[in-house]
Amino acid sequence: MNDTDLLSTKQCAYCHKLKPLTEFRRRTGKRSKGQSRRGACRECRKQRETLNIKLTANPLLVKLDTIQTHQHTLLERPKEGKPSSAAASSGQSNPNRRVRGLEQRRKRPHAQGTKLNPEDPTQLIPSTKGMILMRGHSDKGRRWHQEIDLELAITLVREHAAIVVNRRTIRRLYSNKDFRAYILARDNYTCYFCGAYGDTIDHLLPRAKGGHTTPDNCVCACTLCNQTKADKSVEDFMGRI
Ligand SMILES: [Zn+2]
Ligand SMILES: [Zn+2]
Repeated sequence: MNDTDLLSTKQCAYCHKLKPLTEFRRRTGKRSKGQSRRGACRECRKQRETLNIKLTANPLLVKLDTIQTHQHTLLERPKEGKPSSAAASSGQSNPNRRVRGLEQRRKRPHAQGTKLNPEDPTQLIPSTKGMILMRGHSDKGRRWHQEIDLELAITLVREHAAIVVNRRTIRRLYSNKDFRAYILARDNYTCYFCGAYGDTIDHLLPRAKGGHTTPDNCVCACTLCNQTKADKSVEDFMGRI
């Protein structure tokens, strides 16, 4: 083992074993900084998630203090009933808020039997605060997620920048780099305005006027047109050519 190996280990906050960094998930969202990793090793997280789902299904089954340790007996307990209907109700009193994040929400079963159309934003049901969860990945493949309001979520799906994953979640289809590459290839590196070679992305409805970075609102443009158009609308700009 060399120095770098030693540097890249971390003690799990739950089982207290020293494990390689790769055994810890990267943080996402607001708490992510550089190489920051989560406190619980993957093994512990898995167990905590399983416990959490049971807890959600029936809060009386698990006492708070048992969550902090590995309770194999609990994990081996046979499933009672269908946890899906209970887990779907949102009035859960879950004391273990630290792991009650994306992972669990992602796994929560949704309206049974109804097949979602990934391109139909009218299926989205916002949280009580009117928010929808959006997830995506960065150019380097890091996963991120954020809450956006329903209106924006609907626009992003309508304009083909995202798809509906479930009634509370959409997934952004392109990272920044992917998006650029996609638009340029789609438009054949041809400026939408003058037909010359183009390799920049322009917003038809400028962002300053509420336009979004979506396939439907973006086109390939040459540098000159892009700069000349700036934040004028297409009508204004084309009228002046
Ligand atoms: Zn652990
Ligand atoms: Zn042009």
